[in-house]
Amino acid sequence: EEKRRTWSKMAAPELADGKPYALMANVGGVAEAEQAASFGAAGIGLFRTEFLFMRFSDFPGLDQQADEYRAVCRAMAPAPVIVRLLDCGADKPLPYAPHPPEDNPFLGERGIRYLLARETQLKIQIQAIARVFEEGHQIKAMIPMVISASEIDAVRSLVPAGASALPVGIMVETPASVMIVDRLAEKADFISIGTNDLVQYLLTVDRGNPRVSAYYQEFHPAVLAAISRIVEGAHKAGIHVGVCGDMASHPDSALALLALGVDEISAGINAIPELKACLAGTRASTLDELASRLMTAADADEARMHAKKLISGDP
Ligand code: PEP
Ligand code: MG
Repeated sequence: EEKRRTWSKMAAPELADGKPYALMANVGGVAEAEQAASFGAAGIGLFRTEFLFMRFSDFPGLDQQADEYRAVCRAMAPAPVIVRLLDCGADKPLPYAPHPPEDNPFLGERGIRYLLARETQLKIQIQAIARVFEEGHQIKAMIPMVISASEIDAVRSLVPAGASALPVGIMVETPASVMIVDRLAEKADFISIGTNDLVQYLLTVDRGNPRVSAYYQEFHPAVLAAISRIVEGAHKAGIHVGVCGDMASHPDSALALLALGVDEISAGINAIPELKACLAGTRASTLDELASRLMTAADADEARMHAKKLISGDP
């Protein structure tokens, strides 16, 4: 307990010339949230509620969910917690709620589509988050796999009146959401970029297929252009944009994201210590230069090399 208090008082992470940056954590439950707090994370940027749902043998009820969300908020207090609405299907099926086989599960019933087809479950989850919000905790809701503004409207319409100020954000992780990011940003309270899926869908490369892993390029010019466009759209609408995909968990890509102007990065808890250590050696004054090198790089290898060079302190 004593150790934890000392650690959580750790100063906000900074780049070498003292520029602070927001480092959040991705978690799957309370135990990880406690660890995140001990690593000095500035909040939970992604609570993957699939992992909570997988621990039960049937859909958890309102009280069960609220207890878990509250506990995660308490572990992180007063820092904010972003609870992502259930994103099951595709690579994360729920054993007790099998859905019909699909030829293309990644293009099928997952994310918000799964929930809109099961509105009772969606309502229960939103009500559980809303309850914890009304109790005064720093909790936000986030919608996965958005492709249309109507999906944001649908979720907001289920937020109880007493919790109407509950921040509702979206994951931008589909090509459609990149193309209409300006319109989505008008309706969302914040954006978090899900690079794991965004890379998969933009480059049409299955994120889990080792036979095509060489094509899965986070530094591909199309990915960097998409991220830059999302940042611009979010900032034009006056909202924050973070990244909770794996790109935020590795020093070179995390630095690239900061260079492209994202407001926060959310990393896996195990990645946090190394990430902090690497970024502490990198000067913020070089970020603008990196951004232009990234945007003009001929290909993914060249772009990654520019980021790597900065991490290692080369000019
Ligand atoms: C992502 O797609 O980048 C993301 C963070 O969500 P998940 O990996 O759970 O699909
Ligand atoms: Mg995703």
